[in-house]
Amino acid sequence: MASGDILRYVVAWKFPIGLQAKEYMDAGELVPDEIVLELLRLRLAQDDARQGFVVDGFPRTLPQAVALDDILSEIGQKLDVVVYLDVPDELIVLRLSARASCPTCGRTYNLLANPPKKDMVCDRDGTALFQRDDDRPDVIANRLGVFHRQTRPLVKYYEDRDLLVAVDGAGSEEEVLERIVGEINRKTGGAA
Ligand code: AMP
Repeated sequence: MASGDILRYVVAWKFPIGLQAKEYMDAGELVPDEIVLELLRLRLAQDDARQGFVVDGFPRTLPQAVALDDILSEIGQKLDVVVYLDVPDELIVLRLSARASCPTCGRTYNLLANPPKKDMVCDRDGTALFQRDDDRPDVIANRLGVFHRQTRPLVKYYEDRDLLVAVDGAGSEEEVLERIVGEINRKTGGAA
């Protein structure tokens, strides 16, 4: 599950909490911790999270990381590993500017490196692709600034707790996935 997807869902369905979140998302700012934490608490309490889960894009601030520990102890779970995908800012800008997504199946494309067979149409289900409003150059620049100021400090937070694996996020989807799986297995001694 991805915190950004959960937020886009409550925005799209015009839930009151989504109306509050939208202005922050449009500007490339972080949505206030209380809102994100309320949504995550609800999501993690659902049945399908009982056997474990992967959260993408969360936590993004120190208070979120601290609150995550409380949520996990409430539901009797613990963090096994935190994956930090390390990608240079210039590559992030290139990737986000060329990103298009399918609203039906969620598949994402890079319009330059990995375009769909038919222009702006999903290969899997034929739905028209869209580009996110916050993938505009000015908003991307703000999101990167926010990341360095508010989220990057979490790398040290999780390093100090011996939970972090840093993965080189440059390269193809397949290469990066292989690295992530390898690093998680190395860290946890498991077979992810
Ligand atoms: P993402 O889909 O992860 O790129 O997130 C898109 C936007 O949703 C971000 O720019 C934030 O405005 C908001 N967002 C997603 N996750 C979080 C989070 N954990 N904390 C605060 N805001 C978030």
